[in-house]
Amino acid sequence: MLEWGIFIPATALFFILYFHFFNKLFNGKKVIYKIEIAQELRPFKFEILYTCISLILFLLVGVFLGYSIDNGWTVVYHEVGFSALEIIYLISSLFIALIIHDIYFYLIHRFLHIKIIYKYVHSWHHKTHNTNAWAAFSFHPIEGVLQIGIVPIIAYFLPLQIIVLFLFTSFLLFMSVYGHSGYELRANKLKVLNIFNTSLHHFQHHKFINYNYGIYFNICDRLFSTNHPEYFNAVKKIGNRIIDDKKKISDPNLV
Ligand SMILES: [Zn+2]
Ligand SMILES: [Zn+2]
Repeated sequence: MLEWGIFIPATALFFILYFHFFNKLFNGKKVIYKIEIAQELRPFKFEILYTCISLILFLLVGVFLGYSIDNGWTVVYHEVGFSALEIIYLISSLFIALIIHDIYFYLIHRFLHIKIIYKYVHSWHHKTHNTNAWAAFSFHPIEGVLQIGIVPIIAYFLPLQIIVLFLFTSFLLFMSVYGHSGYELRANKLKVLNIFNTSLHHFQHHKFINYNYGIYFNICDRLFSTNHPEYFNAVKKIGNRIIDDKKKISDPNLV
């Protein structure tokens, strides 16, 4: 029961600290991946305070989840079957969970931007204009429960092997922190029809507010025409800047 209560906030904090010290951990070599080179990535006091509140909520939701699993109230399963069908389901169930969460996140996020709800709830998260790792879970408590609430919802309705549920939760927490980290690591990575969102995508959401509501996939924002019109150009620009900076580092004569 307690393992989920510890796992969720501890993993969230681990990713926050990882991206907080990201550049230092790699001896200053990651500075070229900063979305805005002059960007200050240090957190404000309010972001740390709101994050602490969210981590306590994550602990409570985690305990509830663990208690639900232990009592057999969820559809989470422990056995691993080795038939082809079971293995195919095991792998695809992770992607199904991510797709469900992607749609959930988009819809909840649009809901949070309804004027009155934005004013009293979501504006807490948007106090951050220049994102950093500590902004990821800097939420009003209501939003904190809505956001982490997807984990028990998935556990109650989508049959997942327990390890897959751990992977799904870890990926969710990682992407939330990466999206706020202020670093863009995928601008030049393999693009499959630009389906996967970048960190820049959510960075623009904090800058321009009424664009880029999605989390993992760049599908809902395209379907509902909420992608920032300059998003793809901006990804290209950052990608080119990173390539140039890498060349300058490997050949100082270019500077
Ligand atoms: Zn928002
Ligand atoms: Zn955000």
